[in-house]
Amino acid sequence: MILIFSAPSGAGKSTLVNYLLSQRDDLEFSVSCTTRAPRGQEVNGREYYFITNEEFLERVNKGEFVEYENVYSGTYYGTLRSEIERIENKGHHVVFDVDVKGGIHLKQIFGDKALSIFVAPPSVEELRRRLIGRATDSMEKIEERVKKASIEMEDSKHFDHIIVNDNLEIAKSKFLRVIEEKFA
Ligand code: ADP
Ligand code: 5GP
Repeated sequence: MILIFSAPSGAGKSTLVNYLLSQRDDLEFSVSCTTRAPRGQEVNGREYYFITNEEFLERVNKGEFVEYENVYSGTYYGTLRSEIERIENKGHHVVFDVDVKGGIHLKQIFGDKALSIFVAPPSVEELRRRLIGRATDSMEKIEERVKKASIEMEDSKHFDHIIVNDNLEIAKSKFLRVIEEKFA
């Protein structure tokens, strides 16, 4: 089984995905490649494989990615085929945390084998507040993410489920329930 999670940046997707991973040991996170620098406590090989633009494009040419996107001005993110193999060989379900375009793309590729979930913020104003509160991006980057969020919200209709992350505890239990229903 493939689980795809997408959201406008700041909606709380990482918080919810990390919660889900802590609750179920049959799920495993697919570590993507990115050309952005590590943020806060991020560790190479855990949140992402941090690589240069040059290496990223070389690996695109070698066909190493199932999908990749230029998510924010000049920053690439890509899903590695090798991650899917690694996780499936262990008998685990694969968890993807990807941007909205990537989520739609992966659902097209994996079809019924995949469940796609869109995490929505209660409002764009609250999204901005959360990004400012997270304090990991400059105001310029925050505005870029907020602007993109309005467009991404339009694409939520392409997902199997939409979960609004307003109250965190309620969103966590909705997350668990959707997965349990799928696996039942
Ligand atoms: P994303 O992965 O979607 O970019 P994060 O999980 O990093 O978002 O969450 C963005 C910020 O919002 C973090 O500081 C997080 O602690 C906070 N947050 C997440 N969910 C909620 C919620 N339901 N209510 C208030 N703050 C939240
Ligand atoms: P961040 O820089 O906040 O970690 O991530 C920015 C966005 O890139 C998030 O929406 C995240 O889900 C997305 N992302 C992470 N990895 C991938 C990937 O492999 N492919 C795509 N398309 N998006 C990704």
